[in-house]
Amino acid sequence: MKIMVAVKRVVDYAVKIRVKPDKTGVETTNVKMSMNPFCEIALEEALRIRESGLAKEVVAVSVGPAQCTDTLRTALAMGADRAVHVDAGMAHVQPLSVAKILRALVQAEQPGLLILGKQAIDDDCNQTGQMVAGLLQWPQGTFASKVVLDKEKQKATVEREVDGGIETICLDLPAVIT
Ligand code: AMP
Repeated sequence: MKIMVAVKRVVDYAVKIRVKPDKTGVETTNVKMSMNPFCEIALEEALRIRESGLAKEVVAVSVGPAQCTDTLRTALAMGADRAVHVDAGMAHVQPLSVAKILRALVQAEQPGLLILGKQAIDDDCNQTGQMVAGLLQWPQGTFASKVVLDKEKQKATVEREVDGGIETICLDLPAVIT
């Protein structure tokens, strides 16, 4: 099985955010950028699954400007087998557009699992995973804190962090997990 992981390049979590002087957005010039921390967790989980022998390949994908290749190099250094960059130039790509791009990549790559961060710390949208699951009509397990795969039954058991505690759900693969 192949696992695809979406990794976003964002302003580093430790950077104090500054608004641009013309108030059109957040200052990103000369600001340290890094992989979104929740995407790092997503990638670590994919690598853990591969190392347990339940997946053969981990493909990291990022949508954004040319500098996303730095984020993808980090993903490769962490252990991803392959990286795909969708060059969106300097355009601010909204979650629905990213979800549509991910759907196209999933259709081309046919992974058994698509793992995303639960949210990007720059826009805090928490939308992309849910949208791509809807577009693909795949089951989704969001806010996952534990993932157990059953390769034979082609199922994933996902423990989700919900308001009341932990909810456990069982998904048919292929599925989207955040
Ligand atoms: P969001 O819905 O914007 O909070 O993002 C949730 C997750 O979707 C992120 O943690 C990433 O895994 C993925 N994602 C969002 N935007 C991008 C992007 N431009 N490139 C790659 N992955 C993305």
